[in-house]
Parts: sequence; C-alpha cells; structure tokens
Amino acid sequence: MLFTRKTLATHLVFLLLFAFLFWWGCPFNRLFGFTCPGCGLSRAWISFLRGDWRLAFKSHLLFLPAPVVVFLFAHRDTLFRRCQKTMDCIFIFFAVLLAAYHLLRG
Ligand SMILES: [Zn+2]
Repeated sequence: MLFTRKTLATHLVFLLLFAFLFWWGCPFNRLFGFTCPGCGLSRAWISFLRGDWRLAFKSHLLFLPAPVVVFLFAHRDTLFRRCQKTMDCIFIFFAVLLAAYHLLRG
C-alpha cells in the first residue's frame, strides 16, 4: 500500500511546518535581511490562483515548475528511487536555473 498512516502523518507534518515557516514571509529573508531564490513564489502562486498570470510571472518566473521539483525532491527516495541519476540531473538543473534567475533579477 502506497499511503500508510505514517506516510500521511509525515506529509501532514511537513505541510504544517512549511505553512508555519512561510506564514510571516520568507524565513531566510527574516533571518538574514535579503531575498532568497525562492522569494516571490508564494506571491506568484497567489496571483496565479486569482487569475493574474502577468503578476504571477512578474513575481517569480519559475513558480510553475517549483512545486513539481519540490515534490520530486521530497519523494526521490521512495517513488523515484529507480531513477536517482535522472532526479539528480533535474535537481541540479533547477538549482542552477533558480540561482541564475535570482542573480539576474537582483
Ligand atoms: Zn525567500
């Protein structure tokens, strides 16, 4: 069985931790005082869900693939353990893309 109680509980704990961490804004920005490569993702998703695609892409260009990459990363040792090298390539590619975007947007 793919979803056991432990799996569901783990997912729930991670979702709650994530929500708690980002409730008052970016924790990285709060700690160090400058933006991180992920800053703007929440704003982008909120804009996207409200139907404002322009503001969503303006807030963060990579907001669409970001949750997919997070999902892949979180499940790399379970759902995708047979293709770890491919997963690693995807993560490295996305990290480079995210860093480049962060540097370019300033
Ligand atoms: Zn941030």
